[in-house]
Formats: sequence, structure tokens, C-alpha cells
Amino acid sequence: MLSNQYTIQEVKQIINAECDLINDDIISVLLTDSRRISTASEGLFFALSGRRNGHEFIAEAYAAGVRNFVVKQGPEIKLTDANCLIVVDVLAALQALAQHHRNRFNLEVIGITGSNGKTIVKEWLYQLLMADKNIVRNPKSYNSQIGVPLSVWQINDRNNLGIFEAGISLPGEMDKLEAIIKPSIGVLTHLGPAHDEGFANTREKVLEKLKLFKNCKLLIHNYDQLVDYKKDIAALNCFTWSKNFKQADLYVFSETVIKKNYYLRAKFKEKEIECLIPFLDQASIENAIVCWATLLALGYSAVEADKRLEHLNAVSMRLELKTGINDCSIIDDSYNSDIQSLEIALNFLNQQNQHQKKTLVLSDIFQSGLQEDVLYKQVAELIKSKKIDKFIGVGEALVKHQEYFDVSEKFFYTDTTELLNHLLNLNFKGETILIKGSRSFEFEKVSRALVQKTHETVMEINLNALLNNLNYYKSKLKPGVKVMAMVKAFSYGSGTFELANMLQYNKVDYLAVAYTDEGVSLRQAGINLPVMVLNAEQSAFDKLTEYKLEPVIYSFGLFDDFIKYVQQTDVANYPVHLKIDTGMHRLGFEPFDVEVLCDLLEDNKYIRIQSIFSHLAASEAAEHDDFTGKQISRFEKAAKKIEKCLGYKVIKHLSNTSGITRWPSAQFDMVRLGIGLYGIDSAVSATDTALQPITSLKTSISQVKKIVAGDTIGYGRNGVMAKGGRIATVRIGYADGYLRAFGNGVGKMMVNGVVVPTIGNISMDMCMIDVSTVEVKEGDEVIVFNDQHRIEELATQIGTIPYEILTNISQRVKRVYFYE
Ligand SMILES: *Cc1c(COP(=O)(O)O)cnc(C)c1O
Repeated sequence: MLSNQYTIQEVKQIINAECDLINDDIISVLLTDSRRISTASEGLFFALSGRRNGHEFIAEAYAAGVRNFVVKQGPEIKLTDANCLIVVDVLAALQALAQHHRNRFNLEVIGITGSNGKTIVKEWLYQLLMADKNIVRNPKSYNSQIGVPLSVWQINDRNNLGIFEAGISLPGEMDKLEAIIKPSIGVLTHLGPAHDEGFANTREKVLEKLKLFKNCKLLIHNYDQLVDYKKDIAALNCFTWSKNFKQADLYVFSETVIKKNYYLRAKFKEKEIECLIPFLDQASIENAIVCWATLLALGYSAVEADKRLEHLNAVSMRLELKTGINDCSIIDDSYNSDIQSLEIALNFLNQQNQHQKKTLVLSDIFQSGLQEDVLYKQVAELIKSKKIDKFIGVGEALVKHQEYFDVSEKFFYTDTTELLNHLLNLNFKGETILIKGSRSFEFEKVSRALVQKTHETVMEINLNALLNNLNYYKSKLKPGVKVMAMVKAFSYGSGTFELANMLQYNKVDYLAVAYTDEGVSLRQAGINLPVMVLNAEQSAFDKLTEYKLEPVIYSFGLFDDFIKYVQQTDVANYPVHLKIDTGMHRLGFEPFDVEVLCDLLEDNKYIRIQSIFSHLAASEAAEHDDFTGKQISRFEKAAKKIEKCLGYKVIKHLSNTSGITRWPSAQFDMVRLGIGLYGIDSAVSATDTALQPITSLKTSISQVKKIVAGDTIGYGRNGVMAKGGRIATVRIGYADGYLRAFGNGVGKMMVNGVVVPTIGNISMDMCMIDVSTVEVKEGDEVIVFNDQHRIEELATQIGTIPYEILTNISQRVKRVYFYE
């Protein structure tokens, strides 16, 4: 048996489960997400209770071919020819299994925790130590109660070093992670305010984190951070670093910027040593010092440590989705390559349905800890299970093992240059291409060749933040309440199929668009969720029905038109939605129309009422709460009446974003989530981190100029600098959606961390900002808005609402989606 294969009988004993086994299957893969099952054959599925019903997960996993399950005691689940291991606590069982696995190996393990920098320090230690060790580590930032067991499960007998990060947010969590990781060397990264809310005070939080190190023989930490915890770590052997305290083992006394590097000098063992770090931002410098201290603590010489640190590479955990040449979509993940991150990227590829054809460009994978033939067999199996249509392998190992790959179109090249030389012959067209390579293959060159050239103003859309926001609102819903995601107007400016694919994958129940065309685009991009169309025009009924879109019927005229249309087409029970006007006075039947409507609906076989809804006019505003209350009761009454005359149940929905936050009593059967999904909710304070803005708009400086006193700037000579100063011209104007109203100091942008005003009028494609107070140069990035310089502030500056700013960003501005 391989080192992480277990018989189901063994698992049963390890996790102390009750059950009658029907066979003694072998398992090697732990599965926790029923949507992402690649190797079902040796999979053991843990039905962790989350937001979705555990039984639903199990059915999905069963359908994907899984036959071994760990489930919670409770209502009996009947699965034919499957093993069901029944336990009291499914998560505890997962942890127990990982802990058992860990205990079988006595490799050296570095355990990392802290508030910030855990993943970077883990990845950097991996870069720094990979030359000497066969390392196993967490994929991405899998550092939670679930992520750590899955990470530790990967240990095999070829590994001689583990590097695992642990993250906690509540008291009591670290002991469990410590038992699974069992680190012998501890590394503490920066401590900050993250997760304070889960603890009574900072001291309690820090002590919880320190529990990871309780059995360590060595702890590396910043001296300053643990000054108040000396007693608590008295039993540990520590290696400390500091910029302030001379008594630290590594005392950093001098810091200088040399071109793009940061040069540090320090005292170590009575000697002066130095190191050069290829980064300039404070967070990277601190993380690099932590790594420096770790290398020295592990016994590396100062010269060797310096040599290795100089070659540190930036860690990018994000996948970027961009528009490619020839109607392709490009998923760029060209900075790291291992089998776990490959699987994550392939899952992301699979959830993008805009093109049928799916292509993978992959380089050789290094440092997997597996023998080459085992590794590439696994890779080939993974690729097959993810139904890749076209495979392009780059590197000597892939060339050597090409016969493993069972893909209809496959191509192999020994190196990136050879691939680039043949790129045109590969005829990329209308496909989604995942580019995934180890750093040394420099796949960014491949990405550059395949991505459409963009102008430097881009809107970045953070898909993780989108999911965070979706889950935030889901957590506010009563059990069983459905979610309709509002993706009208190009998803509030944030894109169409990219977001819809993500929402579909994450199981929202319904989508809504404003016009039929928008719905058609979604269908063409492979979206099969039900889609409601708010304004279904008569001229578009053909398209509407062809693409199975569901119209909103809001008037008697539209009702007649649609019935007549459906009569001709010989369709029965076409799903439609009824809109009631309860006080917004935009679209909808009036409450007094309901009786006539009921007469029309009775025995009408042409349509079926899928839902009844109304819209709140001021759900966000306390001063209108009485009115909102009236709207709710009017809606309730009208909906009840209609349901009664229909004789069947329909979905009732009323709340938009602020309605969800402020009116829990108005959730009915479904809510319509709009702007909240995009991270904005006037009923949630902008400083509340529960919601995350998903978009940022960035541009850059094309020129910097000195202005002498009295000169004017821009059209109409409106910009005046009385005392002179410096301006920068940036690549965004009103044609991009940066409205003229932002001119003459009204609007502010952020450059190198400093917020500066516009000066003069906004031009069509450019505008000028006053940079007299900040160091800038041509090419510097300029933030129009992001999570720090918030869109809400921009809206206030010109007296509008975030909705208008977002939907005004023109289509000329390229969208780049990223996912970590
Ligand atoms: C746009 C829209 C919503 C979403 O409103 P938000 O305030 O963005 O959540 C809900 N319902 C209808 C009918 C809409 O037109």
C-alpha cells in the first residue's frame, strides 16, 4: 500500500465509527466538497455540516461515484453499495484521521502562525529550503480546521520536512491544529488585529496562537511582539529578531533602499551581517526578516542565507481570468505548480462555461515528493476527470510521459521557447485556456501572447470577495429562503458570465437581468439557472422563449401580449413572474388590480406563476420604515389572494439588499440580492469588514509635469495652481466613466498610498491630478477606487450613489477577474 492509502476498516477504527461495512475498500483521497470530486474511486467523503443540507451533499457525492462516506448520527441515510461510517462529529473524525496519519511519520515540521503573513512566510520558507529538503506544505492557504487536516494528509514517506501554517479565529481551535501538525519548530509572523472579535482581549488571542508552539524545541519570533508574554513562553527555546532591542539574536540596525532592493544590516552572534531583499513594501520586508531569522536559527550561515533571500520570488496565490485573443478566455496561474493548486485551478476552469472547449497549458511539476511516473499518472488522471479537450505539456518530464495523457488533442514541447515558436499553429479559438506553470518556465510570456492587449486602466474583480458577500447574506437568511442574484446591467458593471458562472457554481437559486438580451448572453455562456427578466419587451418574446428565460408580467397589456404569443406557440405552463406595485410606483399591478388578475389567472393553462414579488422603495432608510412596513403588509395581502385563486404555492419575494439586512421579517421565500453582492450596502457600515468591495479601478500615470505659479491646467483653463507645483496626467477620462463632475478637485485618487485631488477639467480619455505632495513617477499605479479608497466616498463627492458609479464604468475598461 502507498503511504496514504488506508482500508475502510482501518479508518473505521481510527475515527471510532459505528457501521456495518459492506466491503473493505481502499481510500486515499479525502473529500469535503461535493462539487469538486475528481478521484471518486479512492475517495472518502466527509459530510461536513455547512450552510447546505448534508444530505444534499451526500447525494451529489454519491452521484459523482463516491462510495465511502463519513456522516453524522441522525436520520438514517440509505445508500446502496456504499460504506457509511457514522460518527458523532464529522469534523472531529476528519481531524482524527489526519492526526493518525501525521503520527506515522517522524519528519521535522515547521509550524507557522500569526495574524498576517502566514502564507507568504510558508511559501518563502519553501522556496528557501527546497534545495535541501523534500517538503510537504499546505496548498494555498489551507490553514483552517478543515484545511490543516487536508494539508497534513499529503505527507508521504519521501518527505523529510513539513511546513504547515495554522489559522484560528476562536478560542480552543489551536490545540486541535497543534495535535494534527505536531510542529517541532515554531515560527510566529506579524501579530495584528485580525480576528480580535472572536476573543475577549488581545492577550487571550495571542495565548491561543502560542499554543501551536507548546511542544516545539525552537520558536522563532519578533522580540518586540512577545515582550509581555515572556512568562508564557519561558519553557521554549527562542530565536528572536528585532529592530529595537539589541538583546535579540538577530538585531537589525540598518535599513536602506538600493534601487528595487531593500538592504538590511544586523548583529548576529557578535558579528555584523547583511542581506538584500528584492521587495520594498513593509509587509514583505517583515516577512523576509522572519525567514532570515528562521534560516539562521536552522543553522544556515549568514552568507548562505543572504544568497538565498536575494532570490525570493513574489508569492501569487491568485488566478486571473482575462479576455484572450480570438474570443478566448485566459485563466492565468503562471506562478506556481503543484498537484493541489492544479486541481484548484482546474475546478475554476470547469466552472467557467462560456466556451465549450477547455484547454490546459501545463509545465513540468517540481518537488511533488512523488516519483515521476506516479506523479504524471496522477496528473493525467486528474486532467481526464476534468474533461480537458486540449492539453499542451511543456517540459522534459511531460514529453517523456506523454503516453499517459488520454486527451483528444495533445501537444508537447521541451521548453517554453519551443511552445512560443509553435503558438500560432495551435489555433486557439473560442476556448477557455488555463495557463499553469512552475515559475522557472516563465509562462507569463505565454500569457502575454494570448491575452488581449489592454489599455492600462483596468477594473479588477475579486471573486473571493463576491463569495464572501454571498455567504454573508446567506448567513442572514432563515432556513430554506432562496437567493436570487441580480446580475442586471452587466452585473452592476462587474461582468456577465464570469460572475454568473461563479454564482451558479455556488448554488444561488435564481438570476435576474433587466432585459432579454442580457439573459441570452448568460445562456450562451452556459448558464442554466432559471433567469428572470425584469423588462421583457414584446419584440423579444422569440428570444425569451427560445432561451427559456422567464418574463416578469407587470401589466394587463403585457399579460395579454404574452398569453397571445404563447397560444400561438403551442406551449403550456410557461413560467412567468408577477410583479405587484406596493408603493414604488415604477412597474407592477396595483393592489386593486389583483381581483381582475385573479379572474384572468384562473384556469389559464398557458402560463404558470413561478413567483410573485414587489420592490421596496426605501428599505435602507430608517425614516421611511413606516412606509416599508406598509409595503410589506400590502405585498403579503396581494400575494395571499393570488396564491389562493391559483390553487398552488408560488415563491414570494420582496427584499433587496438592504431589505435583507434591515427587515428579517420580509424574507418570505426568496430575497433579491443586488448591490450587497458587490460589497456595498448602505445598511452595513463601510468599516464593517463582513462585506468586501469586489471591484477596484486602477489606472496609471502617463506623464509628470512641473507647473509654475500662475499656469493653468486642462480645457477651459479651469485648473489653477496659485503657487505652482507638480501634476500627473493619468489614463482615465469621462469616456471610461470617470465623470466630468469629478473635475477641479472634487474627485480624489490614491497614488502611492496618498489621496490627491484632480486638477482642471476631466478630459475624454485622461485627466490630471495634483501630486505636489507625493513622490511619483511615470508608470506609477493610480487607484480610482478600491477597498481602501472606497467607491462610497466617490459617490458622495459628486452627490450620487455607488450604483451609478459602478454601472458607468465603460466597457472600454478591461475587466480582470481574480480568484485565490
Ligand atoms: C435592482 C433590483 C434589485 C436589487 O437591489 P439592490 O438594492 O441592489 O439589492 C432587487 N429587485 C429589483 C426589482 C431590482 O430591480
